[in-house]
Amino acid sequence: MKKLSKSDTEKEIKKFFEDIENKSPKEIKKIKKLAMRYNVPLGNFRKKFCKKCFNPFDNSKIRIKKGVKEITCNHCGAVNKWKIKTS
Ligand SMILES: [Zn+2]
Repeated sequence: MKKLSKSDTEKEIKKFFEDIENKSPKEIKKIKKLAMRYNVPLGNFRKKFCKKCFNPFDNSKIRIKKGVKEITCNHCGAVNKWKIKTS
């Protein structure tokens, strides 16, 4: 893999997630590794794919309760949870 600067990596990741619906779990794993290597926080991008099987969420079941957002993965059935920031 060619060497990237941190800002190049951030651009690369942003571009990747703009088209997340058409990405494969393999590609998502790769971009996550890239982000970790360059210490780029994924932030909200983490919420675009399943933490277990790395498939992008598509029409997944979303539930919100007590400040927690739950998305059930259509592919593996894993429940992904995030705290919702209240401001
Ligand atoms: Zn999954």
